[in-house]
Amino acid sequence: MKALAFNEFGGPDKLRLQDVPDPQAGPDDVLVRVRACALNHLDLFVREGIPALKTPLPFWTGCDIAGDVAAVGANVKDVAVGDRVCVNPNLSCGRCEFCQRGQDSLCVRYGILGEHVPGGLAELVKVRGDRVLKLPSAISYEDAASFILTNMTAWRMVVTQGQVGPGQDVLILGVGGGVSSTAVQIAKLCGARVLVTSSSDAKLERARALGADIGINYTKEDWAKAVFDKTSRRGVDVVIENVGQATWKQSLRALCKGGRLVTCGATTGPIGETDIRIVFWNQLHIIGSTMASTREFHDVMRLFFAGRLKAIVDEVVPLKDGAAAQQRLAEGKQFGKIVLRVA
Ligand SMILES: [Zn+2]
Repeated sequence: MKALAFNEFGGPDKLRLQDVPDPQAGPDDVLVRVRACALNHLDLFVREGIPALKTPLPFWTGCDIAGDVAAVGANVKDVAVGDRVCVNPNLSCGRCEFCQRGQDSLCVRYGILGEHVPGGLAELVKVRGDRVLKLPSAISYEDAASFILTNMTAWRMVVTQGQVGPGQDVLILGVGGGVSSTAVQIAKLCGARVLVTSSSDAKLERARALGADIGINYTKEDWAKAVFDKTSRRGVDVVIENVGQATWKQSLRALCKGGRLVTCGATTGPIGETDIRIVFWNQLHIIGSTMASTREFHDVMRLFFAGRLKAIVDEVVPLKDGAAAQQRLAEGKQFGKIVLRVA
């Protein structure tokens, strides 16, 4: 089969559409013929090389997959060849204490399809039989692929970890990103007032169309001060963070008393300044979040299938143009998801 693979670590120029062996499904697996696969920053990190991962080469990424079932292992029930499906990218062991509690993304052997094993930037992908979810006929492969990973992540951040509820103020930083843009929709669904930041007025406008109440362009005004003003000097109940070093200190200051900072990433750097006095005096919560449990995956997909959460697609391009698409993602030019059409 063809895969958009790299044979050494580095920039997008290392990607080649090349022949690789077809994956072989075991008795508990299904093979999915990939139709669409969305890009995430994870694709870039793995391509650039994550030393701890010991990624075997050649390798191809791709965590957000939709396609057709091409083969079904003997032990797999309720899945048939030809089913239109999307894929839950969680790789969890099912045996450790966290899996036993249904907390897949805390699994001691946790991994992500397309990061720890080859993913969907290829014509075929092997997944465990219980990881595929049938798509309603009205949902396109491209929309499904664009939706999965960022919505799982944002759902866990906003609903489970952030405990966002009606009447609360939620601040979402860098609203052009995949997780941030979808967090707007989810926070609105929870009944919150949503404040967003971006360097781009066009992105703020798109966020408003998704329901954001207040847009702050951080290149034109001091965003922390703007948040303070817009909340009548109270601060917000929840900050949704994935910017990291550049915003961390101000994100903590933007919280109201007892507020919650939920973080799933650190794109500008991993070391942030924390004034511990603010944490204890204001009784703040700093909460990490990674991906989501299988239950959360099903919760958020159900709302997507029901039309209550929308796919946010920036552009769809063919797999062969994946290198340019990854470059565009790295430059942060997109709003929402870039999707590669595989076949
Ligand atoms: Zn486990």
